[in-house]
Amino acid sequence: MSEDTLVRFEKHGAIGVITVDNPPVNALSPGVPEGIIASVDAGIADPDVKAMVLIGAGRSFIAGADIRQFGKGRPPLKRKTYDAFEASPKPIVAAIHGYALGGGLENALGCHYRIAVASAKVGLPEVLIGLLPGGGGTQRLPRLIGPKIALDLIVSGRHVPAEEAGQMGILDRVIPADGDLLSEAIKFAEEMADVRPLPLIRNDDSKLGEATAGGDIFEAKKKQIARKARNQIAPYNNIKAVQAACELPFDEGIKRERELFEELVSSDESKALRYAFFAEREAQKLPDVPKGTPVRDIKTAAVIGAGTMGGGIAMCFADAGIPVKVLEASQEALDKGFERIRNNYEVSVKRGSLDAEEMEARFARMEKVTNYDDIGQCDVVIEAVYEEMSVKEIVFKELDRVMKPGAVLLSNTSALDIDQIAAATSRPEEVGGAHFFSPANVMKLLEVVKGSKTSPEITATTMALGKIIAKAPAACGNCDGFLANRSRAPFNSEMVIMLEEGCMPEQVDKVMVDFGYPMGPFAVGDLAGLDIGFAGRKRRAEADPNYRMLPIADKLVEMGRLGQKTGAGWFKYEKGDRTPHPDPEVADLIRTMSKEMGNTPREFTEDEILKRLLFSSVNEACKILEEKISYRASDVDVMWLYGFGFPRYHGGLMYWADGLGTQDVYNQIAAWHQQYGDRWAPSALLRKLADTGTAFREAHTLVG
Ligand code: NAD
Repeated sequence: MSEDTLVRFEKHGAIGVITVDNPPVNALSPGVPEGIIASVDAGIADPDVKAMVLIGAGRSFIAGADIRQFGKGRPPLKRKTYDAFEASPKPIVAAIHGYALGGGLENALGCHYRIAVASAKVGLPEVLIGLLPGGGGTQRLPRLIGPKIALDLIVSGRHVPAEEAGQMGILDRVIPADGDLLSEAIKFAEEMADVRPLPLIRNDDSKLGEATAGGDIFEAKKKQIARKARNQIAPYNNIKAVQAACELPFDEGIKRERELFEELVSSDESKALRYAFFAEREAQKLPDVPKGTPVRDIKTAAVIGAGTMGGGIAMCFADAGIPVKVLEASQEALDKGFERIRNNYEVSVKRGSLDAEEMEARFARMEKVTNYDDIGQCDVVIEAVYEEMSVKEIVFKELDRVMKPGAVLLSNTSALDIDQIAAATSRPEEVGGAHFFSPANVMKLLEVVKGSKTSPEITATTMALGKIIAKAPAACGNCDGFLANRSRAPFNSEMVIMLEEGCMPEQVDKVMVDFGYPMGPFAVGDLAGLDIGFAGRKRRAEADPNYRMLPIADKLVEMGRLGQKTGAGWFKYEKGDRTPHPDPEVADLIRTMSKEMGNTPREFTEDEILKRLLFSSVNEACKILEEKISYRASDVDVMWLYGFGFPRYHGGLMYWADGLGTQDVYNQIAAWHQQYGDRWAPSALLRKLADTGTAFREAHTLVG
């Protein structure tokens, strides 16, 4: 669509209607602001027009800025839409449906009034991509609703449902979700047409005093976010901008907002966060699942196994409003599983993140069953029984027997061969992997695994299902450990191997927490239980005689140090407290075993620890790309962000490595290959990338 047709102006009686029509979401791309300003001018010039309505065509109001335009050095517009609205002698009503986020809400705040349908959402989420609302949002919102709530909204970036936004005072009127927004907005504009003076947010400082009334809200906010926002600047610049709204006259505040915005737009942090945003979108595009591939309707679900994962997966369905039948081998296991689910929900109710009534509604969507015939009519089934091929094969034979034609059959296996599981059925094309991460009701990654026979329709449906249950789906092919766990496995080994050389768990954890992880990897191991990794290693060692066991980690398990659940693992824990404390007993064990292995303990730098862990995984990820198990490096990043808590402001594992350069990464890996042997053998793709000066994010172009 050409730039001058993105906005149209039409008269409905005495009301001028400005419609932004820039599909899919009316982003503020070049041409849109200019079109809005021209329409406002047309409305002002027309003596028959008494008021105006600003509305979006299609599924949304102006959803937000066009993020791809940031940092492109586009010259700022001479005249801003907000200035045009505020200079208008005739009232302008923003009519909101869908989303009004970022620049979208900022435009609405520049208007005199705001009306929305109840299903709409508003917010200023710029902080989530390392920015701040640079179109006056940090100056107008605190004036409109008071700086305290504005600060919460701007620093969290939260999307606010219209009803709540109405109560906060962001919206003047909220109409039912099925109401006719345009006619209601026109009616509202007619009501307000002659009301003077026109309300302008910029002129109303009456609420700003609350910033200092009950203590310093800005210092309090900084303290509140300190842990989560460490190493980042955007959350703090957002606070500074709201503070400027409270301390400076409006126009000076706007200037300050601009300066703080400029600081962010060129920051590495914002670049990485914007990259992560697009990586997640890119992950939805699957080259071998053509656009238009039919997606099956998922209205009912079944989960096999009510253990740690099955219970969490059932919660995902119930939370999304999908009735789910949970099947177990025995009534006893079923009751135990449901008790655990209830406990999980009750924790959320106690924390205040879920109300008791909603909890009951979710719980009521879950049904206990012990008979396969009871699940036959479900649209999708996810198997989450023990990680043993023989058990999975029996389950899938049963599923093949009872499930209706067209049902989607998925396994939550962490590493087993999807093709072998599918071969247990007469319909392998209907079988795929849906790998959740623990705790399944919390972790956002859904790793969608395509077996060699999985049909594009099943893959497309599993990806869509991921969205429905509020996950971040990303796809890969079938191999031992799939993409996520396979690329993570060398990291998990390397962290223990470093101990054999004299490093201590608390040192490793400190480096990774400083890098930005919420917890260090050894503390995470203690949380998950060290017996899980041990069982996996034993399984692998049985299958592969060259598999390297990890004697120090194995010894801890043999000593009964299984992690938090036994009060001791890599660290020790006080009763009822999850804080890890370094344990001299572990330090002694490490020194003794290290000596027995013929090693002389040495010092490690922080840089070495970080690179030993992350480079080992980068190398493995390259092998995964080379084998075409993964479509592209950015999918690795999505999986690491949502499956392993990789710090988002570093973009993702491969984006971070790109920051160092493929040549340097290759050189270091090649040096460790000399020093440590085969496990560090550089992937052929990595070598090619280094030789050709190609970035990891372009790696797929070399694979073909
Ligand atoms: P779990 O032992 O907690 O639960 C398994 C459940 O399956 C048990 O309740 C058991 O009674 C039930 N079960 C066993 N055989 C059954 C059968 N024939 N019919 C019905 N129910 C049966 O195990 P989990 O940790 O929930 O793991 C389940 C699956 O999820 C495994 O494939 C595992 O690899 C995978 N997974 C686990 C994690 C994790 O962190 N725990 C993460 C991702 C994937």
